[in-house]
Amino acid sequence: MRRVYLDHSATTPVDPEVAALMMTYYTEKYGNPSSVHSFGREAKQALEEARKQVAELIGATPPEVTFTSGGTEADNLAILGAAEALRKKGKHLITSAIEHHAVLETCEYLAKNGFDLTVVPVNEEGILSVEDIRQAIRPDTILISVMHANNEVGSILPIAEIGKLAKEHGITFHVDAVQSLGKLPIDVNAMNVDLLTVSSHKIYGPKGVGALYVRKGVRVVPLVHGGGQEKKRRSGTENTPGIIGFGKACQIAGQRMAEDARHQTKLRDKLMHGILQRIDHVKVNGPIGAKRLPNNVNVSIEFVEGESLLLSLDMLGIAASSGSACTSGSLDPSHVLLAMGLVHEIAHGSLRFSLGRQNTEEEIDYVLEQLPKIAERLRMMSPLYDQAIHTQQAQ
Ligand code: PLP
Repeated sequence: MRRVYLDHSATTPVDPEVAALMMTYYTEKYGNPSSVHSFGREAKQALEEARKQVAELIGATPPEVTFTSGGTEADNLAILGAAEALRKKGKHLITSAIEHHAVLETCEYLAKNGFDLTVVPVNEEGILSVEDIRQAIRPDTILISVMHANNEVGSILPIAEIGKLAKEHGITFHVDAVQSLGKLPIDVNAMNVDLLTVSSHKIYGPKGVGALYVRKGVRVVPLVHGGGQEKKRRSGTENTPGIIGFGKACQIAGQRMAEDARHQTKLRDKLMHGILQRIDHVKVNGPIGAKRLPNNVNVSIEFVEGESLLLSLDMLGIAASSGSACTSGSLDPSHVLLAMGLVHEIAHGSLRFSLGRQNTEEEIDYVLEQLPKIAERLRMMSPLYDQAIHTQQAQ
């Protein structure tokens, strides 16, 4: 069966060049980077090269990069670590309503344990207002955590403006850049970011590897204690092959960023406009144009369930994701779509396609050929659709 992968915001395939390099560090150069012998030294050297490659993609210096087990751990280290370090200064945190669970749940955990939390709303495009952040700031605010780009609807948030505001108020600023790394230019200095989360598996690197950028002079209390690796910020023998793969993936992403963006924007617009032309009662979720990630298409097809659409697409080999699909298996609509003001029924019919390097125009044509047929078939079974069509005809 033909298979079309359009779920790159969930994860990406590992670039063959990355995989080949990693293999060497599993089978030949397998030393522990903390060992003093030549095996250890060669692993350590490669680890430091990877640190340089990650730093370069975000405009940081290598010592400011701490490797972690992924984006989730980096988000936890940033928020819990900064809150703990700044506990004596204040206990107020600010975040946005559309953060990934790795940020939201961590902030909510702190809110249950002595901290105060303000969750700033977003508009119908999934973008927050800097003015709302300004209004939320209190004398005891210690941390602002806002994502660079949203994983569900692809909205790009005004990070540089928030960074400026945070700096003016002396507040530590954390950014979850898991979805923007390699897709949008990131410069931690120009954006006044103090802590920045990145993850390898969204940029054609291996899973289970990520990093937290920590600006020189900013303190985060470690979550994992032990042998003192990663300058005591994150103990544990480093996942050397994974980290080296992540470094290589960053280097490739930096070289290809403009080309990838051009290719994916073209496919994104073709898919989005194609769906709008071919299916009625469709709503695009998230911004249209420059404030949207180049690889994100998110639409709500009214009168059908996102889950049913997903299953039907899957039967034809097309992989996408829906706003109500959740790691917990719950079918609650996505908190992101609800925060954007979508009613439950529309949020339930949402579908996310996230494009990648290897997708082709022909694959998009295939989706555009199949999706209207699926939507029509599912709508035939929907009493709500029937009702809506009759009401429309009667008007
Ligand atoms: N933050 C965002 C915005 C994400 O999209 C994800 C993963 O989907 C994460 C954090 C978690 O990253 P990881 O899968 O590396 O733990």
